[in-house]
Amino acid sequence: MPDDIALLWLRRGLRLADNPALAAAFERHDFVAPVYIDDTGGRWDPGPAARTWLALSLASLDGSLRARGSRLTILSGPANIALPRLATAVGAHAVYVDGSHVAEIEERDARVGDALASAGVGMHTFDTHLLRDPSTPLTTAGRPYTVFTPYYNACRRLLLARDMMPLPGRMTLPPHLPSGLTPADISADVSGPPLLSSHFTPGEAGAVRALDRFISEGLEGYATDRDRPDLVGTSRLSPHLAFGEISPARVHQAVRAAAGADADTFDRQLYWREFGNYLLHHFPHTATKPLRAEYEAMPWADDPRGVAAWREGQTGYPIVDAGMREMAATGWMHNRVRMLVASFLTKDLLAPWQSGERTFWHHLTDADAGNNTLGWQWVAGSGADAVPYFRVFNPVTQGERFDPDGTYVRTWLPELADLPSQWIHQPWEAPDDVLAAAGVTLDSTYPSPVLDHPGARLRALAAYDFVRAARR
Ligand SMILES: Cc1cc2nc3c(=O)[nH]c(=O)nc-3n(C[C@H](O)[C@H](O)[C@H](O)COP(=O)(O)OP(=O)(O)OC[C@H]3O[C@@H](n4cnc5c(N)ncnc54)[C@H](O)[C@@H]3O)c2cc1C
Repeated sequence: MPDDIALLWLRRGLRLADNPALAAAFERHDFVAPVYIDDTGGRWDPGPAARTWLALSLASLDGSLRARGSRLTILSGPANIALPRLATAVGAHAVYVDGSHVAEIEERDARVGDALASAGVGMHTFDTHLLRDPSTPLTTAGRPYTVFTPYYNACRRLLLARDMMPLPGRMTLPPHLPSGLTPADISADVSGPPLLSSHFTPGEAGAVRALDRFISEGLEGYATDRDRPDLVGTSRLSPHLAFGEISPARVHQAVRAAAGADADTFDRQLYWREFGNYLLHHFPHTATKPLRAEYEAMPWADDPRGVAAWREGQTGYPIVDAGMREMAATGWMHNRVRMLVASFLTKDLLAPWQSGERTFWHHLTDADAGNNTLGWQWVAGSGADAVPYFRVFNPVTQGERFDPDGTYVRTWLPELADLPSQWIHQPWEAPDDVLAAAGVTLDSTYPSPVLDHPGARLRALAAYDFVRAARR
């Protein structure tokens, strides 16, 4: 048996190009076995949508490896048992892994490292997920930043351009590898978003195509179009980035090379992704608790019927319902609409943001611990650099502003397709003859509003006043 054998444990770095863990493993060892372990039982396990994406991404990765004479070995079970066992079986003395900065995963990794060490195997961890190590930068007082712009400015000052990592020249597998599971086994018992494959192509090749398409067709105008869900105004790279099918450094450098105001705006968004992961790293409790402790006193309402309507895209507010149905169908939702549906849940319905975070986690292919936590706490007003507490998004005026012709709503709510644009964001205000001509019967083909937004807004403001008063 050759003695120069390593395992490459791939998790959220599902790519060959610009992958530091992969490059190091192949550079230092003659025989490398790429492996994925389906280790479940944690808060951040992929939900059904992400799992569906994962299975397709693993199939794509396995195909790329096979084209180079290698293959992916997929095993299931606790990694602290599966990895030492596999290392012993193939005679590996080193494991290379794409690391995580999420506390719960780091703790699990420490257990895996201990188990491997007991088996005489070293574990080497590499950053593949972010542009930079989230332990820095810190303020001059040595504390983590909690406001985005100073954080962003500090990161930009420290940014070092680096060369992309080359693909390994050869990929030789060690002998005696077990056959393991197939990628399809990973999503065999989940029901994922039915339209995922018609909207996205999971895998490294799909990620590179999405980036190229965005740079040639979408980057120009990004600064203005990115808020329009009726246009393809954003990159739609988030699930590719979430699974590490493309490196953030590659995206960053490709967009920076284009220069201009649109590239600057895009760059900031990439750093919001960094900021979300940075915050969760420094404040791990914010996965479930507000960053601003006073928000623990928030007097949430109990409205299971309203929350169920929200989840099902049946609130009677078209832009909210369109967003929830887009997410259920494709596994992705436009950022502006994410803000609107999150505001509707936490402010109009006054339901805890944590329940929304879990709903998104279940349905999003791009579900990312840092970004999802950041997004929900931001909208709820309880997080870092949050939206001001008094901003309660109005689903009608926001719809009229960002989906002016109702194209987005019509796409996801076909029952409203024939409603004139004037009424598309507030069908309950349309005259009866207009509704009849469009084939809309309120409470039959489409619901009446589950609540009255102006009244709900006042209730939310009172709840936020209560929190602010308790703080004084
Ligand atoms: C309540 C809520 C929950 C969210 N949950 C997630 C999540 O689980 N995973 C996730 O990737 N994003 C999340 N976002 C952020 C954002 O909505 C998505 O990243 C974005 O819509 C992805 O589309 P895109 O790739 O076309 O973005 P683009 O506009 O093309 O941006 C490029 C990349 O920058 C990053 N980015 C853009 N906007 C943000 C942002 N506001 N916060 C953090 N990163 C950003 C993403 O990685 C994105 O792929 C959430 C936002 C909100 C309001």
